[in-house]
Amino acid sequence: METINQNNNLVNRNAPLNMSAEEFRNVGHDLVDQIANFLENMPNGEVTKGEKPKEIREYLKTGSLPSKGISAQELFSKVPQLLFDHSLFNGHPKFMGYITSSAAPVGALADMLAATINPNCGGYNLSPIATEIEKQTIQWIAELIDYPANCGGILVSGGNMANFVGFLAGRTNKANWSIRKHGLSNHSGKLVAYCSGAIHTWLEKGMDIYGFGTDSIRKVKTNNNFQMEAKDFEKQIKKDLDDGFIPFLVVGTAGSVSTGAVDPLYDISTICKKYNLWFHVDGAYGAPAAALPVAPGQLKGLSEADSVAIDPHKWLYAPLEAGCTLVRNPKHLLDTFSFHPEYYNFDINEEDPSINFYEYGPQNSRGFRALKVWLGMQQAGREGIIQMISDDIALSNILFKKVAEYAEFETFTNDLSIATFRYISNNLEYEGEKREKYLNTLNETLVTELQANGEAFLSNAIIDGKYCLRTCIVNFRTTLKDVAAIPEIVLRTGKLIDAKLRSSI
Ligand SMILES: *Cc1c(COP(=O)(O)O)cnc(C)c1O
Repeated sequence: METINQNNNLVNRNAPLNMSAEEFRNVGHDLVDQIANFLENMPNGEVTKGEKPKEIREYLKTGSLPSKGISAQELFSKVPQLLFDHSLFNGHPKFMGYITSSAAPVGALADMLAATINPNCGGYNLSPIATEIEKQTIQWIAELIDYPANCGGILVSGGNMANFVGFLAGRTNKANWSIRKHGLSNHSGKLVAYCSGAIHTWLEKGMDIYGFGTDSIRKVKTNNNFQMEAKDFEKQIKKDLDDGFIPFLVVGTAGSVSTGAVDPLYDISTICKKYNLWFHVDGAYGAPAAALPVAPGQLKGLSEADSVAIDPHKWLYAPLEAGCTLVRNPKHLLDTFSFHPEYYNFDINEEDPSINFYEYGPQNSRGFRALKVWLGMQQAGREGIIQMISDDIALSNILFKKVAEYAEFETFTNDLSIATFRYISNNLEYEGEKREKYLNTLNETLVTELQANGEAFLSNAIIDGKYCLRTCIVNFRTTLKDVAAIPEIVLRTGKLIDAKLRSSI
């Protein structure tokens, strides 16, 4: 004991990662000032500098971890600027690529607070208020989209994980043997799942990593608007049953990643009930639009689903990462994910129960990602959320109409807040297949150029073999002025690319 007390280093321990309140205050205030300036100026700058990895690496140097530490003050005098100078800003008003939203600034503050408290949201007794906040967040998300508010749910990293969780709950529930114990290989008859051709790649990834194999996916025919043909869905189920397969799940897409198409969710639900399939809705992008009074009729059908995936980091404007799975019956999550290890003392008080989230999903230790979603939802309120989503859709419609006024653009689709079109160069001497091939090269090169030059950021979609430009507005900073500027930016850049391509042929 005596020798321990004599060790001054341990009595007044000065750990290199500790910060005094004074130091934290100084560094923190300065950081907040830098972030506020950034938020003020970012909309007037470039979306990206389009720098190559080699250029970026120059800024980081290549040395090993220094053996001596550096003060927080010194680190934060340089690092914020490094990020401000070399990042792509998906919160820029002219960022309209993929489905990545502008992040609510309140989320940045929330993450700082969440990291400070650092609750482990795997067990209730490690995260008492955080667990209850996550439960309330899940309830609010369900209420927003008219899903039963007494559902179960969990926050995960994003849409892929949210879909995996729903998928796994369906697997456990619909396999008529103990699949958790015996696995897939121990059974004759292959489980198969259905989706439309507009499905996101998560299903392929899930079928692969969970051992089903990608040939368990049945892609159902779609109509001209890329929506599943319910009749064809039923036909496929019957054929699979005749062939000895075990149909267990269908994915209805609520806002496809390429065009924003919404499957006929009510019709799919009816067929699911008839054949006892698990009905999962992938609403990673489009589900929040079900809150709108003018939501497409079939989108409201997500209320019929056994599980729904929805991404708060998309159309609820939370900073990355935040996905969410809702499951009609909470028991199905427990049935899928619960184990009771002997090293946990996490028993729930029966009289005043809460939940241990580690039993409701694949993660064990879990961060407090609910806080940023919970705060963002309150800051906007239900009306504010509906307003932002409606404005995004209205701007997308205006952009689509504007583009259609140009002879140089051919328009394709406009669903939810996604518009697709392509640039057609003047005086094309090619016809038929040769013309299509040239236009594909032209538009692909155009997207690459637009994504690097920083004026505006668009992405792409392939529609009936045609390479298209695609804008997706999930961005509360985008205004009419930004949308109005897009056709001219694309046209000017398109003409340059066209001239370059033609001279190189
Ligand atoms: C974005 C998206 C996903 C994947 O979500 P992540 O958050 O990127 O993992 C899945 N499905 C659809 C329809 C999406 O739009």
